[in-house]
Amino acid sequence: MQERCYDCPRRCGALRPLVLEEGQRGGVCGVGTQPVVARAMLHLWEEPCISGTRGSGAVFFSGCSLGCVFCQNDPISHGRVGESIPLPRLRRIMERLISEGAHNINLVNPTHFTRALGALLEDWRPPVPVVYNTGGYDSPEGLARMEGKVDVYLPDLKYVEAGPAARYSGASDYFAVAREALPRMARQIGESRMDAQGILRRGMIVRHLILPGQHRAAMAVLDWIHDNLPPWVMVSLMCQYLPMGRAQEFREINRRLTSYEYNAVLEHLDKLGMENGYVQERSSAREDYVPAFNLEGLEE
Ligand code: SF4
Repeated sequence: MQERCYDCPRRCGALRPLVLEEGQRGGVCGVGTQPVVARAMLHLWEEPCISGTRGSGAVFFSGCSLGCVFCQNDPISHGRVGESIPLPRLRRIMERLISEGAHNINLVNPTHFTRALGALLEDWRPPVPVVYNTGGYDSPEGLARMEGKVDVYLPDLKYVEAGPAARYSGASDYFAVAREALPRMARQIGESRMDAQGILRRGMIVRHLILPGQHRAAMAVLDWIHDNLPPWVMVSLMCQYLPMGRAQEFREINRRLTSYEYNAVLEHLDKLGMENGYVQERSSAREDYVPAFNLEGLEE
């Protein structure tokens, strides 16, 4: 019997089978409970302590419970390109990434699959750190399923105001959820530990992608991180925004970030004395830094 799903903060209560049938819509996330994967690859463009020299073992999950109009991974989050993969096969994909040299297993956008991923990692602990790479819209129940199984939390903090969260991500409760979720992640991890190669073995990095016209909002995001998370939590300030997905429907964000906007946020970061983390070069705003979601890396 199919059960109603309340697995993520949307709590939409959709009937959610293991695998959606052709044409079946499912819940807000748009996928069944069995993980749907668009690509598995050694990813070299994450933060240096995640990608290292050999790459992060990234597994890109399809579907999403957020509705970001500017999503940089739109073909998989909303287009839902991907293949539904049983857990034993997913484990073999991860083992292959590790055998190819992955510094970690990087679960990209896992929020709507915490039930399956929690079960997988209950039975098998990879010999490398597990990274939970999320939009920051995670429920207490979802994070409880991952407790003790995640070594590095890599959440976004996209907004601290309901207005832009509703307009650009369809989630006016985004910050209400994230301001509980991020401290919970930090409490689970409790410390930051880097190995001799500069790979993060345990820790947390909060990412913020600055949106055009939202540089003051970005400063408010940094203020919140500064005031509410422990100093060992790193910050990754990102200027790689490109108007992708449905961004062209929103005139004010249908452009790149200006140098003025980015420099203003960098100055604020400096003023707060937040030196633990990363800032991007403006040359990072290039489409070829977005992986092709072509089901590569899923072969048996
Ligand atoms: S995981 Fe998907 S189906 Fe379940 S509550 Fe969230 S959006 Fe709805």
